[in-house]
Amino acid sequence: MIEFLTQTTPTARKKHICDLCDGEINVGEKYERQSGMVDGDFFETKAHSSCMEICRRYCRDIGESEFVTECVIDWLRDRICDDCETREECPHRTPFTCTRVYELTTSKEETDHD
Ligand SMILES: [Zn+2]
Repeated sequence: MIEFLTQTTPTARKKHICDLCDGEINVGEKYERQSGMVDGDFFETKAHSSCMEICRRYCRDIGESEFVTECVIDWLRDRICDDCETREECPHRTPFTCTRVYELTTSKEETDHD
């Protein structure tokens, strides 16, 4: 359970590694930083805004406020990668770095509940 959570969007003053895609967050780039306490443990996450946006979609889709990166990746593979034409020669280590995944995930508006 999340006991507290603070979320900021600082501009990187040095290089960081995105906790979601393992890619670099470049100097001068805005990124999202979340820190808080879960089950008594302090955590801090730094991630690209685009990677975090995908996770927000995941949370909205499954109706949870928390996510585990591996579960988001499975969800993306099920929903998008499995139907992808270039699945056999996919150059991406993780679906987070794929623009197609990002576009399909973030452009799909939920229509079934509102
Ligand atoms: Zn990232």
